[in-house]
Amino acid sequence: MNKPHEPNSWEARAMANVMAGFTDFPTLHERGPMILTHGKGVRLYDTAGRDYLDANSGLWNVVCGWDHEGLIEAMVAQTRRFPAYHAFFGRMADTSVELSEKLIEVSPFATGRVFFTNSGSEANDTMVKMLWMMNRAEGKPERRKIITRINSYHGVTAVSASMTGKPYNEHFGLPLPGFLHADCPHYWRFGEEGESEAEFTARMARNLEELIEREGPETIAGFFAEPVMGAGGVIPPSKGYFEAIQPVLKRHGIPFISDEVICGFGRTGAVWGAETYGIEPDAIIASKALTCGFMPLGAVILGDAFAERMQAAAEKIEEFPHGFTSSGHPVACAVGLKAIEIILEEGLLANVRMISPYFMKRLNALADHPLGGEARGIGLMGALEVVAEKATKTPFDGALSVSERIANACLDQGLICRPLGQAVVLCPPFIMDETLLDEMFDKLETALDKVA
Ligand code: PLP
Repeated sequence: MNKPHEPNSWEARAMANVMAGFTDFPTLHERGPMILTHGKGVRLYDTAGRDYLDANSGLWNVVCGWDHEGLIEAMVAQTRRFPAYHAFFGRMADTSVELSEKLIEVSPFATGRVFFTNSGSEANDTMVKMLWMMNRAEGKPERRKIITRINSYHGVTAVSASMTGKPYNEHFGLPLPGFLHADCPHYWRFGEEGESEAEFTARMARNLEELIEREGPETIAGFFAEPVMGAGGVIPPSKGYFEAIQPVLKRHGIPFISDEVICGFGRTGAVWGAETYGIEPDAIIASKALTCGFMPLGAVILGDAFAERMQAAAEKIEEFPHGFTSSGHPVACAVGLKAIEIILEEGLLANVRMISPYFMKRLNALADHPLGGEARGIGLMGALEVVAEKATKTPFDGALSVSERIANACLDQGLICRPLGQAVVLCPPFIMDETLLDEMFDKLETALDKVA
């Protein structure tokens, strides 16, 4: 246990001065904060000298380990040459042009346009503003509503939090009007008694169509989805889900924006989650692994049709009045270029494909644990949902959730993993091998036994 009450300790200083976000306060008060000093390979080290295998990849982003020399060199070289710039007033860094080109090259689009942000939340906000601007420019100002899904995660800014389908946003009085949430396609949890997976999927598509018709298709600007819900607890869609809903959206002329902040650049075993699930997106939202987490960077990648429409909308008012001081930051873009090279050309994605079957085998075996409800995942992202009673899938209740207790027991074993609702989530770095996967799962199993 850390020592938040020892005067002048790192923990006490953190408790006194830091407003911690997304932190379970009962756990924080019980265990104190963990103050990290550095990382090496897949491991992190804290002020007490303890080391942890990071099964979180930082926050899904540090997929190449904490000390990748190529990324550090790219960062240093760019910093020496041109350390900062924006992308306004017709001026931009050469490196941001290069990364835009590269992103279109690796995207599913033949042509396109890229807009840079600092984060995934800002990229989703930007995409929503683009939809609103395009529709207004085209004389359809009423086409403003955004559909996402219950349990989805799209960020924390006022718009992206409104898109997020998590109940905690009620504490902010969100969602804003016009943000609608369709069903979460999680068959294991939401399938009805006697309903087959195919019937469940058909119901998801039917309900989406009913929502669109109820609201009026002409009022809906876009549908955003993560190919696999990440922060919702790693929820791959029910079988056939995207095949079933895409025709519904097409029928009503509603664009599909694939939020690939987590899935993009290899997490599902393909470059894009859209590729894994046969999604034909109109635009892609990217961040996280885009820089292997070494620099903050988000991107909106507009596909062919959107690129044209957006350019026309901006030409009409002679400007796209939007952007961040660090949009197209040259150091972030240099790191992005290197990260894409490492993941796609130097074998990291290939490694995900190679080790995923072993990852899934060990993950699936956890469902047999007395606490195990559903083990689910794809590529190198997985979750074990724990249950109080297996047969009825009854969730646990209580102030400190069982998943939180499991994650704490993992910390005691030197493993960082994440409790999300009733699930424990694993999204290890892409540089894992079978030995490291064994260490990760063995530690998790020990933690599960301790809590059971
Ligand atoms: N979209 C998805 C799917 C995410 O998982 C996240 C963050 O986890 C975001 C958007 C928001 O990204 P950021 O935290 O960089 O604002």
